[in-house]
Amino acid sequence: MWQQTNPLLNLRLVKIKMDNKSTVLLNIADVYPVSYSNGPGRRSVIWVQGCTLKCPGCFNQAFQPHISQYLVDPQNFALKITDLCQEHNCEGITLTGGEPFQQSQAVVQFVEIIRENDFNIVCFSGYTYPKLVESTHEDIRTLLGMIDLLIAGPFDISNQCYRTWFHDPDKELVYITDRISSERINNLQDLEFIVEGSDISVTGFPEQKDYKILKDLFEKNQLEINLR
Ligand code: SF4
Repeated sequence: MWQQTNPLLNLRLVKIKMDNKSTVLLNIADVYPVSYSNGPGRRSVIWVQGCTLKCPGCFNQAFQPHISQYLVDPQNFALKITDLCQEHNCEGITLTGGEPFQQSQAVVQFVEIIRENDFNIVCFSGYTYPKLVESTHEDIRTLLGMIDLLIAGPFDISNQCYRTWFHDPDKELVYITDRISSERINNLQDLEFIVEGSDISVTGFPEQKDYKILKDLFEKNQLEINLR
């Protein structure tokens, strides 16, 4: 076991070998304390590590392998994220990935505490909504009932957006509760730059042509582009 600091968060997260089966751990790929383009309002965003769906052209291929990244106790991590949301005046969190439903047991434990603290939950999934609803897996069904807004369905490279949001006809926006209204989704910011020291990350939903321009610009300046 060893500890690693996520530079974006300055949180000490414990990295534990994957063969530790005694505790349910949540495997996190990345966290942004504040984002305006991954759901309505100010939100903390959590990318989980691991997804077996392999959508052609997946925008986050580094987050596909189910390899150990930041393995965290879901409840302790939820308390840290709750503090972070309060500190940054966020209205809720967005779960994305990777595939949150492939870690549903740990995600349920995490989300339970976030909800208790009255933050709203947006969740992306590469599974379709009918597929999730049909699941007989108890944790998947429980998680589905804890989300306010689900953005469901696989990524489709043939669409104009490099990633998917309201422009993508294949993504289904499922308003599971009335805590987030559809009007708020129509006014979302598409793109956001997050600068941390010499690290620049781009998050949001650029159109493919804009992403290509950005990528060329970053490469020209010998910068690595991280699209989240
Ligand atoms: S669901 Fe998301 S992370 Fe998984 S393969 Fe598709 S685009 Fe990539």
